[in-house]
This record gives sequence, C-alpha cells and structure tokens, in this order.
Amino acid sequence: MALPTLDSLDVEGKRVLVRSDLNVPLDEGTVADDFRIRASLPTIEVLRQRGARVIVASHLGRPKGVDPAFSMAPVSERLGELGGFPVVQAHAVYGAEVEALIADAPEGAVVVLENTRFEPGESKNDPEVASGLAALADVFVNDAFGTAHRAHASNVGVAERIPSAAGRLLEGEIKAFGRLLGDPERPYVVILGGAKVSDKLDVIKHLLPTVDLMLVGGGMCFTLLKAGGYRVGDSLVEESMIDVVRQILDAPGGEKIVLPDDLVVADRFAADAVHEVVPGTGIPDGMMGLDIGPETIRRFGAVIEEAESVFWNGPMGVFEWEAFRNGTAGIAEAVASSGGYTVVGGGDSVAALRLLERDDEVSFVSSGGGAGLEILEGTNLPGIAALERWS
Ligand code: ADP
Ligand code: MG
Repeated sequence: MALPTLDSLDVEGKRVLVRSDLNVPLDEGTVADDFRIRASLPTIEVLRQRGARVIVASHLGRPKGVDPAFSMAPVSERLGELGGFPVVQAHAVYGAEVEALIADAPEGAVVVLENTRFEPGESKNDPEVASGLAALADVFVNDAFGTAHRAHASNVGVAERIPSAAGRLLEGEIKAFGRLLGDPERPYVVILGGAKVSDKLDVIKHLLPTVDLMLVGGGMCFTLLKAGGYRVGDSLVEESMIDVVRQILDAPGGEKIVLPDDLVVADRFAADAVHEVVPGTGIPDGMMGLDIGPETIRRFGAVIEEAESVFWNGPMGVFEWEAFRNGTAGIAEAVASSGGYTVVGGGDSVAALRLLERDDEVSFVSSGGGAGLEILEGTNLPGIAALERWS
C-alpha cells in the first residue's frame, strides 16, 4: 500500500486538519484515560515543527446531536497539557465562526474542533459536513485508525475534497497489519476472545486459511463449543450463529481452531460468584464459563511462545473481575514473552494488556478494534482508501 504520508506533504504556513482518535473515556467531565491523546501527539508535533497551523478533529462518545456532556473541552485541555502547546477550543465543528477562530489563533496554537458527532451528518458522510470541514484547511491528515473502517465526513468526505495524507499513527497501523497480511512469518497464531462470535465471524472465516492455529477463548468460545456438541450450561451462547459456526468447524481448516481444554465456571454472572475449574467438554447445568482454565492457559501459552507471528483480539474471560482475569493475564504474559512479531488489537484487549502492564512488551498495540479486524479480513478500509487518490 503506497499511501501519501507526512513525508510527502508541504505544510509550511498551511492550515492542516488532523483527524485524530481522541475518543477517550470521561469520568464526571474529566479525562479518565489519556492513552489516545498521547498517541495523537507525534503527528501533531511533526506538523507544528514544520510550521503548519494545526486543527484537530475527533468524535467523542455517542452523543445524539449537540450535547455539552460530550464537549471536546476536557480533551483539549489535556491535549495542551501533554503537548505543551496552547490550545484553542472551537464551539462548533465547522462554519464561519470556526474559520475566523482558526484565522485568529496565535502562532503555534492548536485549534480543536467541537465533537464531530455534534453534526448528525458526520456518520452519514454528509457532503455539507465534509465541505464545511474541508473549508477549514488546506491539507487533511487522517490519523484515526479506530474509525478507518467507517465512511464518515471527517475521515472520508474531507479526504475526497482536499489533498490528504496518513498521519504517523495510521501509517504505523498499516505497516503493522501489513506484516500479518502479506506473508507472515510462521507459525502464525491468532488468538480470539471477547464477548460475541457474531462480531468476529468474518475474521474467523477470512483468517482460517492463512493462520497455522487459531486459539479461541472468551465469551465467544461457548457458541463454538455448543456447535461442536458440548454442554455449555448457562454460558453466553449466540444460538443464531450455531449453524454457521458448525459449518466452519467441519470445513477444511476447521481443525486449526483450538478450543479450551478447561474452563473456570461460576454459578452466576458476578465478581464474587462461586467458581471452579471444569473440563471444556462439559459445563454443568446452572454454571456459566467466565474464563479459560489453567490447562488451557498452559497449552495456549506454549503455542504462542513458539509462534513467529501473533495477533490477539479479545479477552479470554471477564478480566474486569479479578476472579476471572487469570486467562487474559496468562495469554498477555505469553504474548509479551513470545519472540515473534506480536500485534494486539481491540478496545478491551488493549485495556486488559495495559491493566496487566504488558503493553510495552508486545511488538505493536493497535488503536483500533473493528478496524483491525476488517483489515485482517482483507477489506480496503474507506478511511485509508480515500487517501489513495493523493498518492
Ligand atoms: P475487544 O474490545 O478487545 O474487541 P470484545 O469487546 O469483543 O473485546 O469483548 C470484551 C468483553 O468480553 C469484556 O468486557 C469481557 O468481560 C467479555 N467477556 C470475555 N469472556 C467472557 C465470558 N466468558 N462471558 C461473558 N463475557 C465475557
Ligand atoms: Mg470491546
């Protein structure tokens, strides 16, 4: 993928609109985790150093129209603190007032637009929103990998209107996934977990032919276990997926899917539930699987440590509760100590990796969940495709 990057851009004295992913968790109006804000800084820094007038756009949460509870103001404040530059907060996403604010902003300041989702047309890639955003800048830089699988006005519409390039974060993501997509070093092992098999069905189908082994845990493994004929008790199961999952398991390649040998089951869905370890082949009635068991951790771990390429998406259990965190912690440890090339993606997977303080020990921590899965499915992501016309 030959994409235009910051290296091919002339930005001196120009207004550069950067679409970052600053969709951070808020807690009573303050930023609860600034990981994404930090990740946006390298691109902003390069542009500022080259004399660009930087304007930053992002969505935040899922507001329905204008809603002060979802204002970008607390995010801008933190951006300025972390970046060490003055920040000016706009009170709209685009329009004459925002244009004037940008024109009047002091040199070296970064202007942050209001939450792009305050515009109902944003998610529909409405031409009016796209044109309004394009009017704010001379050049567009997309640095938001997490939304690259969506065709919105602030990542696709605007890129169709003014010269555009990929920012550093997006460039890094494309390189990292490129290494898994092309001709990954083998053994290539994919670990999938998380809540729902329906979210990950396409990635299972598309990856099975290319991987050597696919290790499956998390909530999604129970639909696979049930499709394989095992008793799953009260575990999370998506009944509507059973037929298609059974077809995948029975087709050539299905033998590459490895399901848990043992599971931690609980008597209810609660942090303090009574729990025990049982074989993966039979969960007692009235019990539900909330984590993979110690034998599975050992077996999955041994495979991961021997792998040359690893992609992990989805926690192995309800890691938010300490009693059901061992599986995710064990896999995090194995991925961290694998000598291979390791990529971890997914909002909750990355949160778990950071909670377990293993994020510095993997080759690449992806900033996108759905976008990473779609790239691995072989989809040309709209947010990336829109940049290609400028190469
Ligand atoms: P990611 O954000 O990394 O893509 P998902 O959103 O697919 O991951 O899934 C994460 C969620 O799955 C977590 O909140 C976790 O508690 C839940 N989960 C994992 N294992 C189970 C399980 N056995 N039963 C119910 N929920 C589970
Ligand atoms: Mg999630």
